[in-house]
Amino acid sequence: MDVERYPHLRPAAMDIARFRELPDLSRHLDDLAEWKEHSVKMEGDELQAKAIWCLEGLVVLHSEFTSAHGSMRSGDVIGAFDRIERILTAAPIIRRHLNDAGGKFGLELIHNTGWDWVTLLDPPYGISHGSIIKRAHCSICQTRVGVLWPCGHIKGEIYGGMLCIQIHKEITVTEVSIVERPASLILTNHRDQMLKGADKFADLARKLPSPYALWVPQLETDLRRHPAYRDAGRNDRCPCGSGRKFKRCCAHGHPNIKHWNISVIDDYSVPNSRRQTVIA
Ligand SMILES: [Zn+2]
Ligand SMILES: [Zn+2]
Repeated sequence: MDVERYPHLRPAAMDIARFRELPDLSRHLDDLAEWKEHSVKMEGDELQAKAIWCLEGLVVLHSEFTSAHGSMRSGDVIGAFDRIERILTAAPIIRRHLNDAGGKFGLELIHNTGWDWVTLLDPPYGISHGSIIKRAHCSICQTRVGVLWPCGHIKGEIYGGMLCIQIHKEITVTEVSIVERPASLILTNHRDQMLKGADKFADLARKLPSPYALWVPQLETDLRRHPAYRDAGRNDRCPCGSGRKFKRCCAHGHPNIKHWNISVIDDYSVPNSRRQTVIA
């Protein structure tokens, strides 16, 4: 790795292990692109180009992550989940390629936190469809590809610092299913749930000490401590709106209204912090 030729990249390369500072690295994105092109064209160093591709991906993911937190705080919950969705899609791909480098750089943290936000969506179901791909092109060489006509590039691999993905030009939807983890959060009925929960999400995001706070959602199972049920009498109409008496409805076992208790275990923005606080 010829950092001497790009001395201004040295801090970026050094700082990559200190993932909290990654968002500040976005100013290096142009330099990284140039460095990557140089690795391929001048040095023919595919591995170096791959490492730089991961670096770029990490910078973008971390900046998406902190932006998602900002959107959540300001009540733009659709915008926030849009970013979280991109993180959840890209993180496993970057993680796969990072394994060579042996580093995590906070990737696990932002990936898990993304899923924790999704957990708070209620109900957790979305729509997914099965489809037949009629025409697909390779993102690197633009060749039309199929099972019988591979182009030579492997899907998900990195060539010349570029990720190979299939671009589906024509698809036929064959079936639709309800799934717990939909392929797309935004294109499902979650949108309504996100809007309904906007205040709740904004409130939680504002209480978190930083986007990198490590927090854990736990379902409240004690109805006497559940904000929706604690004041309900056994003979009252059930707060869930079923029309039945509380004692014949949610008082037994599975409450229809979920409440998550959120504990902050750690805050990665404060060095060496290890504290637990219940914030919501
Ligand atoms: Zn190709
Ligand atoms: Zn009920």
